[in-house]
Amino acid sequence: MSPAVTGGPILIVGACQAGVQLAATLRERGELAPITLIGDEAHRPYQRPPLSKGWIKGELEADDVILRTREWFADRDIELITGDRVVTVHRTGEAGVATTEGGRALAFERLALTTGAAARRLLLEGTDYQGVRYLRDADDAIDLRGIFPAVESIVVIGGGFIGLEVAAVARGLGKSVTVLEAAPRLVGRVVAEETSAFYLAAHRRRGTRVVLDARIACIVGEDGHVAGERGRVTGVQLESGEVIPADLVVIGIGVVPRTELADQLGLEVAAGIVVDEACRASDGRTVAAGDCAIMPNPYALGVAGLVRIESVNNALEQAKIAAATLMGEEAAYRSVPWFWSDQSDLKLQIAGLSTGYDDVVVRGDVDAEKFAVLYYRAGRLIAADCVNQPVEFLTVRSAIAKGLTIPAAAAADTSVPLKQSVVDAAPAPDVASSLARASEPV
Ligand SMILES: Cc1cc2nc3c(=O)[nH]c(=O)nc-3n(C[C@H](O)[C@H](O)[C@H](O)COP(=O)(O)OP(=O)(O)OC[C@H]3O[C@@H](n4cnc5c(N)ncnc54)[C@H](O)[C@@H]3O)c2cc1C
Repeated sequence: MSPAVTGGPILIVGACQAGVQLAATLRERGELAPITLIGDEAHRPYQRPPLSKGWIKGELEADDVILRTREWFADRDIELITGDRVVTVHRTGEAGVATTEGGRALAFERLALTTGAAARRLLLEGTDYQGVRYLRDADDAIDLRGIFPAVESIVVIGGGFIGLEVAAVARGLGKSVTVLEAAPRLVGRVVAEETSAFYLAAHRRRGTRVVLDARIACIVGEDGHVAGERGRVTGVQLESGEVIPADLVVIGIGVVPRTELADQLGLEVAAGIVVDEACRASDGRTVAAGDCAIMPNPYALGVAGLVRIESVNNALEQAKIAAATLMGEEAAYRSVPWFWSDQSDLKLQIAGLSTGYDDVVVRGDVDAEKFAVLYYRAGRLIAADCVNQPVEFLTVRSAIAKGLTIPAAAAADTSVPLKQSVVDAAPAPDVASSLARASEPV
């Protein structure tokens, strides 16, 4: 590709998975215009997934989670600003300017929002006791890692992936762990009953207490040394009156996309910054990618409208599309979504999106903790949750990407390798029209 200046200076707000990938792709595609990447965290851009896994366990150091070195940015002539937050952004015709908390004024002609999401706050009496934590960013994780060794009892509020990962680490370190989930099953928003039931049993087998349909009355603790100041947390009280002792409470109840700047620009926002398949926002010129963006997804079947996906894969793939769009090239999001979660020795890999499924097939040995749940819609394979089954995961992901399927009866037969059962698909009309748009990524 020949180098090109395809427009004026580019400003990317949000320096994490999506922002860094966007800057990288711009340079890879030959963009020569000045690029500024700004993030409000004091740290060099880093990966979040290890924070709830190896980092809090104490197995990793800062360099292990850093995405790129300062030299990497310098070599590509990408100006990286950390520890400063964009507070206002204005656009008049081609010219735009963003101002920061630190007093910078950053001029741009092209703008990308990769502002991610913030931890959803729990509105409950007692969340201000010392020892009540969230886990979204590096500061939270550094804090938790420091606290962990002295902690004996942990209550995790929220049985989603992050809560369960924290619970698994804590249990692995010998802590007494309770997970409180308000819904009737774990990770119910994302996986089928079968996968939820497996994780419930697996965590219980490892000694974690899991309470489903949990109704929390309040978080309780000691009075502080100063009048009116909160002291240490001592537990979580359920509406039944039971108090579950805790010297650490970790809250993981989801995230809220950061759309403040999109609001300022008057962009369409609906549970995320609304973008089209090219990652273009409603003004036709700003792009957005990653956790902050909500877009039509060709793999989201049975859902009307837009989908927001919180995963590294999604952040990276959307960022690549957004970069191409900023350079005036034709691009559309086409890659099969995938995700992973590590909980003790259980590696979950999810291929595709299971929205709108009408049938599931369980393949493998659930009791041996090696199995896959395959999701079908109108007889066609659309997704799979694979537990300690990396080959099955790759097979399903590749089949979906190629528009192929695995008949349900064949999928259940473990005497035949899954790969051998992949066949051409004859999709139902709604599946066909949605997937017809899905081919290889740009
Ligand atoms: C603990 C944890 C574990 C996870 N584990 C997994 C996993 O196992 N697998 C997986 O696929 N995904 C996982 N995820 C999700 C994944 O990390 C996110 O989907 C991904 O980080 C999204 O990247 P992003 O760049 O869109 O947003 P973010 O990572 O949220 O980055 C956005 C950045 O923009 C900054 N920002 C926002 N507004 C401004 C502003 N006005 N000015 C300057 N900077 C701003 C934010 O501070 C942040 O640094 C995990 C997330 C967490 C928190």
